[in-house]
Amino acid sequence: MNQASSASESLATRAATVIDRCRELAGITDMPGETTRLFLSPATRDAQTLVGWWMRQAGLIAHTDDVGNLRATRRCPHDDAPTLVLFSHLDTVPNAGAFDGPLGVLLAIAAIEQLGSTPLPFHIEVIAFSEEEGVRFGFPFLSSLAATGQLTAEHLARTDGNGIPVAEAIRSFGLDPDRIPITCPLAPGTFAAIEAHIEQGPLLDKSDSALAVVESIVGISRMDLTFQGQANHAGTTPMSLRSDAMAAAAQWIVEVEHYAANYTQLVATVGRVHTLSGASNVIPGTVQATLDVRHPKDESRHAAVAHLLTKAETAGALRGVRVHATVQSEQRAVPMDRDLTLKLHRAAERAGYDAQPIFSGAGHDAMILAAAVPTAMLFLRSPGGLSHHPQEEVLCQDVEAALATLLNLLLHLHPHRKL
Ligand SMILES: [Zn+2]
Repeated sequence: MNQASSASESLATRAATVIDRCRELAGITDMPGETTRLFLSPATRDAQTLVGWWMRQAGLIAHTDDVGNLRATRRCPHDDAPTLVLFSHLDTVPNAGAFDGPLGVLLAIAAIEQLGSTPLPFHIEVIAFSEEEGVRFGFPFLSSLAATGQLTAEHLARTDGNGIPVAEAIRSFGLDPDRIPITCPLAPGTFAAIEAHIEQGPLLDKSDSALAVVESIVGISRMDLTFQGQANHAGTTPMSLRSDAMAAAAQWIVEVEHYAANYTQLVATVGRVHTLSGASNVIPGTVQATLDVRHPKDESRHAAVAHLLTKAETAGALRGVRVHATVQSEQRAVPMDRDLTLKLHRAAERAGYDAQPIFSGAGHDAMILAAAVPTAMLFLRSPGGLSHHPQEEVLCQDVEAALATLLNLLLHLHPHRKL
């Protein structure tokens, strides 16, 4: 057997181990019978013990910072060398799959195992973030906000379903929220951060590709609309004399779908509709509807929102229905670092894979880190486009491709030199 084939065999074996470990972690849960691991929960502690053990087997000493992130650093002999961060998260949504989050952490550990004693001109810090999904406190990214100095007193005062504030949950876990500014920030000299993550969408599966590099994480506009018509008797009011708020909203919802379907990279969703008074024999007087609009370019998203609001007003005006819109939230698109993204793309190419450019329709910790350090993301195919679901999957060959890409990047990355 020649050296190349034995090397590729060992990468395949490591990929299989990454998958086995994700599945083992999926058995550590706050809710028996499913995979649910919430921020600072008992299952999180057990998951961290196990991942900490795997870090130790890879020659790393793990520790927990004061927002509950599990961290370990592969040190380069030069103490003052810069640091590359490889990261993802260990918390999950309720009834989650095995790979959203843990995959990126276990790929990072596998890459370090594969490197063995190969010298690199930088330290590598692995960060397993403790809070990405926003389930327990109704607010995402708390732990990456802490790592980038963006966690505020308001964040720490947020309460969970039992009225427990973030700060108290941190203390109950044996950590000290007052030490967040000391123990949580990224190491000084961190020059880049990379997250490997499943796509959580269908595009790679549809194009039969293993990998993609993320160009940008989409911006999101969330609006609440009220269609205000006139409630009246469903039997005695002729069609020509009605102000039916539901008919106006219904026309608009179909127009939202049609418009987004014909606008490149735009997605728009009316996810919730509520009718007042909502009786079968009453013409709907008031309809409340939500609108979620996402696009990788902020200008395009703003243009789409403006157009869709005009459509709502037009659909209302046809029926004497007034439309009132309020903005619930605006989240800017976050481009990934161009130079690092290109390096990741080239690393995939050298490893024998074509990692297509893609944009992420979902939020990730990478958005938060990008504010502090050049950040890039590698996506792995989600078979069937399925995620946030117990049947979430990855293919072993794709995990091997991601591992080969990360290793190639690590071996070619030089913090002081452009490739
Ligand atoms: Zn995730």
